[in-house]
Amino acid sequence: MSTNAALFERAQRVIPGGVNSPVRAFRAVGGTPRFITRAEGAYLYDAEGRRYIDYIGSWGPMILGHGHPAVLEAVQRAVTEGLSFGAPTEREIELAEEILKLVPSMQQVRLVSSGTEAAMSAIRLARGATGRPMLIKFEGCYHGHADALLVKAGSGLATFGNPTSAGVPPEVVQHTLVLEYNNLEQLEAAFAQHGARLACAMIEPIAGNMNFVRASLPFMRRLRELCTQHGALLVFDEVMTGFRVGLRSAQGLYAVALPGFVPDLSVFGKVIGGGMPLAAFGGPRDIMQQLAPVGAVYQAGTLSGNPVATACGLATLREIQKPGFFDALTANTRSLVEGLAAAARDARVPFVGDSEGGMFGFFFASDLPQHYSQVMSTDKERFNRFFHAMLEQGVYLAPALYEAGFVSAAHSRADLDATVAAARKAWAA
Ligand code: PMP
Repeated sequence: MSTNAALFERAQRVIPGGVNSPVRAFRAVGGTPRFITRAEGAYLYDAEGRRYIDYIGSWGPMILGHGHPAVLEAVQRAVTEGLSFGAPTEREIELAEEILKLVPSMQQVRLVSSGTEAAMSAIRLARGATGRPMLIKFEGCYHGHADALLVKAGSGLATFGNPTSAGVPPEVVQHTLVLEYNNLEQLEAAFAQHGARLACAMIEPIAGNMNFVRASLPFMRRLRELCTQHGALLVFDEVMTGFRVGLRSAQGLYAVALPGFVPDLSVFGKVIGGGMPLAAFGGPRDIMQQLAPVGAVYQAGTLSGNPVATACGLATLREIQKPGFFDALTANTRSLVEGLAAAARDARVPFVGDSEGGMFGFFFASDLPQHYSQVMSTDKERFNRFFHAMLEQGVYLAPALYEAGFVSAAHSRADLDATVAAARKAWAA
C-alpha cells in the first residue's frame, strides 16, 4: 500500500505540483493531499484506506453522492454503445431538451466539455452578438481559466485589470473591467463610463469561488437594468449554482424575488454532467443562432456532447427532479450549517454560515462577507487549523477558505451529526 505522502512525492516528479488542478495540492492549507482510490455515497476513501465524509463532491457535480445506481447504470449502458462518435446523437437532444425545460431563459443550448470552455464561448458569443469588445467581471468570481478572465482589479475603476497569471499579456485583458461584487456605486460608474462598449457582464449569482457570497437583490436588479439600458448582455455563470442551489438554478431564485428577471446568457457545468466532463451555455434563439455552423461566432469540440457524459448528466438531472429532492437537500444543508453555527457559539468561536440548496459556505468572522476583500480578511489561520482538525477526524472540507462546500443527497443525518460532533471536538481543543 502506498501512503498519501509517497504518492504525492511520486506525483510531483511527473505532474507539476503533483496535481492536475491547483487547489488539490493543499497549498492554501498546507499538508499532504489525500490520494483518493474510490468513492461511494457520501464518502471518499484514500490510499491509506481512510474514509472521509465528502463535502467537496468533485467541486460540485456529485449532487446525488458517489456511485448512484441510476447514474452508474446509465453510464455503463452508454459505455457499451460506444465512447465517442464525433457525430450527433439523440441523447444530446434529450439532454438539451431536459436543460431547456428547467431553464426558461434559454431557448437553445450548446454542449461543451468544461466550465472554462462554456464561459469562454459565452463571452465570444456576447462579443460577436453585440459587436462590442468589453466585459465586466467581478472580483472573486471565477469563470474558468480563459485568458480574458484571468484578471484582477487595477488600481482604480478607470483603469483596466491586471492579469492574475503569467502568460497572459496585459493587452489580452485590456477589455476586461473588474468590479467589486455587490458594489452598486462602481457598477453605476462603470456603465456610465463604458456602457456603449460593453458586450456583457458575467457574474456568479451566488459566488462559490470566494466561499459563498450572494449577490444582493438591489445589486442584481440594478445590474439587469443597466445591462438592458446599455445593450450589454447579462451572463449568469451557473457552473456551480446550476441545478445545485435549486431545480431552477440561481436564476430561478432571482426570478422569484425579482419578477420577470432573466439573464441573457447562462453557463452551466458540474451537475449537468453528473461527474463526467460536460458543460453548456445557452440563451435566446436569436443569440444562439449566431454560433457556427449557422452563425459567424466560431465554437467547436471533439468531445462535445460526448455520449457517455450526456448519459451521466441526463440520469443525474432526472434524479434531481424527483418530488422532494431539493426540499430534503436544502433542509439537510441548512441543518449542517446551523449545527456548525451552534457548535461555534458554544465554543465561543466567531462563525457565520449560509447555504442555498445543496451549496454552503462558512467564515470565521462575525458578519457574512459581501465581496472578495471581506472574504479574504476573515480568519485564515483559524480556517486552516479547522480544516486539518476536521480532516484528521475524517471530514473532507474544501482545502481553502475561499471555496464553497457541497452536500449531496447521499449525506445521511448521521453523517451531518458526525460532522458537527467533529467540529465541536476541533473547537474544544
Ligand atoms: N465557473 C464557475 C462558477 C466555476 O466554479 C468553475 C469551476 N470551479 C468554472 C467556471 C470552470 O469550470 P471548469 O473547471 O469545468 O473548467
